[in-house]
Amino acid sequence: MSPVGNLQSSSLDLPTLSLVAVCISGLLGLFLIIDWLQQRNVRALAWWGSAYLIGASSMALWSMPTPLIKLPEAVPGALTFLACGTIWNGVRLFQGRRLLPSATFIGAAVWLALGQIPGVLENGNGQILGALIVPAYTFFIAIELWRERRRTRYSRAAAVVVPCLHAGIFLMPLAMHAFLPAGHNAAWLTVFTLETILYAVGTAFIVMLMVKDYHVHVYRTAACTDHLTGLLNRRAFFENALTLCTQQAKRGEPVAMLMFDLDHFKSINDCFGHAVGDEVLRLFGQVVRASTRANDIIGRFGGEEFIAIVPGGLESVTKIAERVRSGFEAAGAVVATHAVGATVSIGAATSHEPVTSIDALIARADAALYRAKHDGRNRLRTAGDDVSNERARLITAARRARVSATGSLPQFSRRRAVS
Ligand code: GH3
Ligand code: MG
Ligand code: MG
Repeated sequence: MSPVGNLQSSSLDLPTLSLVAVCISGLLGLFLIIDWLQQRNVRALAWWGSAYLIGASSMALWSMPTPLIKLPEAVPGALTFLACGTIWNGVRLFQGRRLLPSATFIGAAVWLALGQIPGVLENGNGQILGALIVPAYTFFIAIELWRERRRTRYSRAAAVVVPCLHAGIFLMPLAMHAFLPAGHNAAWLTVFTLETILYAVGTAFIVMLMVKDYHVHVYRTAACTDHLTGLLNRRAFFENALTLCTQQAKRGEPVAMLMFDLDHFKSINDCFGHAVGDEVLRLFGQVVRASTRANDIIGRFGGEEFIAIVPGGLESVTKIAERVRSGFEAAGAVVATHAVGATVSIGAATSHEPVTSIDALIARADAALYRAKHDGRNRLRTAGDDVSNERARLITAARRARVSATGSLPQFSRRRAVS
């Protein structure tokens, strides 16, 4: 009794085909587990490797002419469904979703339970049940893979098409049971065994593509992000900002620039230590991410200075800035059990004209930030349409010269800001 019938009944050389399927699945399982041992960060590889090994043992039990150990007849089928559930949970783990261990066993449990009732899985009923359980798992796998939008379109499509094909082929016994006279499914068993071999190799190939995509994603993210805050680094910020400016210019819509500088940050370091200072920076990253939209671009400009460019005019940028300011004031009151009282000053500038120079927009936001510091910190100031204020213009020019020379904005000092 197996979910696909008796493999021995085919007139073709099914035992040889089955042996090949067992060897290929077993070897692929071992490769995946060795791969997991080498790169422990991808735990899904262990699940997938185990699934291949379970699948290989189920195939071996089916095709063994004289079983070495006497097991209940339903065991090989149960192992097949366990392998399917294990692959599904591996995919969930890989996509960062919650593991569902009980769902791994549900197909096998149903099969074993029905196997206890005499005659229930006989006369093609086992085939029908198998042809329902396996596609159910593979459709779930396909759904998990389709939900993942970070991977390349090519590997995402391949990862969905192969399980769907497999599910489709497994569904064929249902149609055959309904339409073909009894005894005509020997050729189908050969097709099924061949398809299992191709599927095992195909899915292993897809697993490799997915793991490769994952590593590319990790390296690309690492190259673009600031490791402390998880925000974009300076280079990535400018690349993304330029793209946003071009898009907004094409639509004839404005962009707005926000400059953030944490207040009295040197004192925070001095009073509570560098580790608490780092925690405050991390916290600011979280607050600013939570206060902005997915298409807003935020970066760490250097030290305790951050920068954001967002689509929209003065009204929307003021709302965002106020959310960040008040959010950080609340979150920064107590950090790592210390009454830190961290706050942020913000300068904003908008441009209704197509932005040809990000530097000019930064200069205006920077001048507004200086005013926010000067007016007492923990506040937002917005720039006028031009930097007409002579003092701000001079300061901005000096700061821009320093940016070109050192690659970082000069730090605000309390002495300068209160003068
Ligand atoms: P203001 O309110 O005028 O901005 O004063 P401030 O103290 O924030 O500015 P100041 O320029 O005097 O000090 C900035 C400090 O930020 C100095 C520097 O040691 C600290 N800093 C820069 N990068 C990091 C970092 O990655 N971690 C920590 N903990 N401190 C940093
Ligand atoms: Mg500061
Ligand atoms: Mg500063």
